[in-house]
Amino acid sequence: MYKIICHGGAGSRGSKFELKNQIVAQAARAGMSTMQAGGDAVAAVVTAVSLMEDSPLLNAGTGSYVQTDGMVRMDASIMDQDLNVGAVIGISNVRNPIQVARLLKDTGLHSILSGELATEFARAQGIAAYDPRTVEKLELWLELRKKFQHHNNLELMVKLREMVQNEEALGTVGCVAMDGRGFIAAGTSTGGLKLDLPGRVGDVPLIGCGTYANRFGGISCTGIGEKIIKVCLANTVADFISQGKAAREACELGMREIATVNGRAGLICIDHTGNIGHAFNTEVMSFCQLEEE
Ligand code: ASP
Repeated sequence: MYKIICHGGAGSRGSKFELKNQIVAQAARAGMSTMQAGGDAVAAVVTAVSLMEDSPLLNAGTGSYVQTDGMVRMDASIMDQDLNVGAVIGISNVRNPIQVARLLKDTGLHSILSGELATEFARAQGIAAYDPRTVEKLELWLELRKKFQHHNNLELMVKLREMVQNEEALGTVGCVAMDGRGFIAAGTSTGGLKLDLPGRVGDVPLIGCGTYANRFGGISCTGIGEKIIKVCLANTVADFISQGKAAREACELGMREIATVNGRAGLICIDHTGNIGHAFNTEVMSFCQLEEE
């Protein structure tokens, strides 16, 4: 039996929710096909997350939010149940950050690379230059910037960030898969929150926060990174599984933890016995799960 669950972020519904759901369902199907064709759980996660990164509707890869300086910097991480890890922080000018995270994991050079050096690593691995900014996201930034023409740079950035900080935009992507050997992998990719300050690090590239996998299960989270970090959400859910909880209950207990810090989040999970779970405390979470021979 092959199992996969994908998410396209937790937040408020917005006008394109159904379209986002369709992309997430396509991603789950693509990841499932990868495993049915002989690929392992890591390959399935990379296939599914790459497909969602390529959609301009989701906040990862193409269509990522621009930061307050008009640049896109993305985070991604991948982990398998043998504790192999790869993550990139603030990578720019690549199409699929999850593929760079996977390459880093496979080289074993480091676990996490950040900024320009992450981008340089991608180039050295043969990943082409690519601008993930979409006209829509750039226009949003240009529009907001006009309102603050007379502020100096840092002041402007802080003002822009303050304007949107209560918005719950949907669109970070993630996937957990279990292949025919019962092997689990999890991955997550994001353009961060809307109009982040450059240099901000969210939960996604922090192992144990946005993504975690071990012999008990795999987890990918979404929501306000600043809150997810406080409770190491992905690792916390893995701990609940290690204490004997099945995926669904572990996810619900994870939500209780996030509530203790007034956080808004969602998560997906597959436990070592193959149970699939999800939970969220936002208005909606876009997700799709499949189980097939
Ligand atoms: N967790 C992501 C971050 O804080 C955002 C999200 O999931 O919507 O960067």
